Amino acid sequence: MGRFVVGAERDQTTLFPPCLEDWIAEDNPVRVVDAFVDALDLGALGFAGVDAARTGRPGYHPAALLKLYVYGYLNRVPSSRRLEREAGRNVEVMWLTGQLSPDHKTIAEFRRQNGPAIGRVCARFVALCREMGLLTGTRVAIDGSKFKAVNNRDRNFTQGKLDRRRQQIEESVSRYLSQLDTADRQDPTPELAAKVVRLKEKIARLGQEMERLAGLEEQMKAAPDRQISLTDPDARSMATSGRGSGLVGYNVQVAVETEHHLIVSHAVTNAGSDRAQLSGMAARAKQALETDTLDAVADRGYYSGEQILACERAGISVTLPRPMTSGAKAAGRFGKEDFLYRPPQNVYLCPAGETLPHRCTTVENGLTLHRYWTNACSACPMKAACTTGKERRVTRWEHEDVLETVQRRLDADPLAMRVRRETVEHPFGTLKARMGATHFLTKTLPRVSTEMALQVLAYNLTRVLNILGSRKLLAAIPT
Ligand code: SF4
Repeated sequence: MGRFVVGAERDQTTLFPPCLEDWIAEDNPVRVVDAFVDALDLGALGFAGVDAARTGRPGYHPAALLKLYVYGYLNRVPSSRRLEREAGRNVEVMWLTGQLSPDHKTIAEFRRQNGPAIGRVCARFVALCREMGLLTGTRVAIDGSKFKAVNNRDRNFTQGKLDRRRQQIEESVSRYLSQLDTADRQDPTPELAAKVVRLKEKIARLGQEMERLAGLEEQMKAAPDRQISLTDPDARSMATSGRGSGLVGYNVQVAVETEHHLIVSHAVTNAGSDRAQLSGMAARAKQALETDTLDAVADRGYYSGEQILACERAGISVTLPRPMTSGAKAAGRFGKEDFLYRPPQNVYLCPAGETLPHRCTTVENGLTLHRYWTNACSACPMKAACTTGKERRVTRWEHEDVLETVQRRLDADPLAMRVRRETVEHPFGTLKARMGATHFLTKTLPRVSTEMALQVLAYNLTRVLNILGSRKLLAAIPT
């Protein structure tokens, strides 16, 4: 006869738990959280309330609340209300905090008040990874991904959205007015009278909506980037790689080392474009890795001459493809890459073999640009494939040699883009899966940045636990 494992009787008296320590295995990751936070100098990191106040009700030590949050993000319990519940029922949390049970307001307030300090804790774990020898490589992949804010798309307004909404309202009003006209021509009945009242109410409501939109337009025009979000004022409407699938949220930037896929630095911004992010991210990664040289790979969305130049000047060699923005190439004519630059003579050679000497220099948007052209274009048999103008002019930025070095580097390393993609897919995929459909729980850039610091810390902790195991990680944490 078969048998089942039988649970304990519910009314059986037990000494649960006989000793909290007995419930936590030697290799339980919660021990890593405990040891890591205990090893931190919370005062130096900038946490408030490290020293007990002389008067008033005793508060919770920041170490207990930090442990609670690190544990929560590691175990996908990031909300303060859920953490409050876990503190009262989860043996690991009871062990971690010594059975403290702060309420959700205290827990949330700790995260709100200590944003920059929590960011430094995240950086401290990266430093620990470096000390453990996990960050010996000098190559990072830099990428950005859009994360949804609390703000609904319907509560974000740009001029385009306002215009579309107005058009919809006008169409609805004209539809209702034509229905009213039709009703006027029909024999009066009680049902018809009720319908007319309903239509008039709808038209009145749409009128109020128009007034609301006019008010929102005023606010929107006063905003520096001509955009407002009503729920989270810092969230911005952003395009994503999927066609027509924009979202209202934040742009999360990461620099990920290519060997173990650990995030060495990150930043949260509400700028929708990556174009101005390269040098800042690369410099932070270089600092975190404490290396003299750094190789950073990124996608074409980061291509900016000034950003690339700033990287090269900071000792960071970048590898990224140039975006295809040439109108001539798109129209099937020669692109700039079909013209060869000859540095000694400071001339270009065109596809027809003509020499284009330097003619003039201009400054546009702060960039010094040299212009080259020849007078031979009018008689050139290849002119139709080259230019629609009188002659073809080639423009060269004063630091164009830096961009040419980047192109040569990319040509010499054709796998660089694949390495980039495989490196950054891992953390972004994991972070988004952990964070669920609505990615952020908090509002405004500083709070969202704190949330992301905790998410990145949890991601890196999980990676190192998978790579080394909790015993080795515990042994590496200084006591
Ligand atoms: S049109 Fe001018 S620049 Fe172009 S290939 Fe002919 S000579 Fe060279």
